[in-house]
Amino acid sequence: MNITRRRFLTLSGAVGSGIALSSLGLDLAPAKAYADELNKMNRVRTAKQVITTCCYCSVGCGLICSVDRKTGKIFNIEGDPEHPINEGSLCAKGAGFFDLTEANKYRLRKVQYRAPYSDKWEDKDWDWAMERIAHLVKDTRDKEFVTKNAKGEVVNRCETIGHLGSSNVDNEECWLMSVTARALGLVYIDHQARV
Ligand code: SF4
Repeated sequence: MNITRRRFLTLSGAVGSGIALSSLGLDLAPAKAYADELNKMNRVRTAKQVITTCCYCSVGCGLICSVDRKTGKIFNIEGDPEHPINEGSLCAKGAGFFDLTEANKYRLRKVQYRAPYSDKWEDKDWDWAMERIAHLVKDTRDKEFVTKNAKGEVVNRCETIGHLGSSNVDNEECWLMSVTARALGLVYIDHQARV
C-alpha cells in the first residue's frame, strides 16, 4: 500500500497515544518518552516544512526541515520520502544533520587547544588559532620544503605537515581545503569519512 508522509505521521501519532495511555501508572519513563515523541509529531504536523538538499556529497539526498512557525527555528530534519534519489532514507552523516544546528547545545563553539606536554585543554578564540596555524605552517615550510627528490626530479612538497578533513564539511569546503593543502605542497591529505 502506498502511504504518504502526512498519513504516516497521523497513523504513528494515533498508535503512540494508545501505548502512552496504557503505560500510565506503571512506569512513567516510557510514557514520558512517548509523550515527547507525540509532542514532536504534533509540532512536525503544524510546522512550516522547508525542502532542501543535503550538502555533504554528490548523491544530493532530499531533506525536509520542520521550522517552528512562532520561533522560526528548525526543530527537526528528516529524509524526504518524495525525493527521487533517497526516497526518505539518509546515510549516518545526513541523519546527523540536526546535530549541526544551533539546537545542539553540545556543539563545540570554541577552539580547544592543548599545549605540547600539557594534560589540560584550554579555550581559545579563532583569531588566536588561525594566527598560530599560519606561523607553524610557515615555519615548517621554511625548514622542511623539498624542491627536488634524490633523483633530482622536481617535487615541491612538504612531507612534515598532514591535513585531516572533518565530517562536518561539505563538498565545496572539501574542495577548497584540498586545493589549499596541495598548493602548500602537502602530500599527506585525508578525510575523516575514509577513516
Ligand atoms: S545523506 Fe549521505 S548520501 Fe545523502 S547526500 Fe547527504 S552525505 Fe550524501
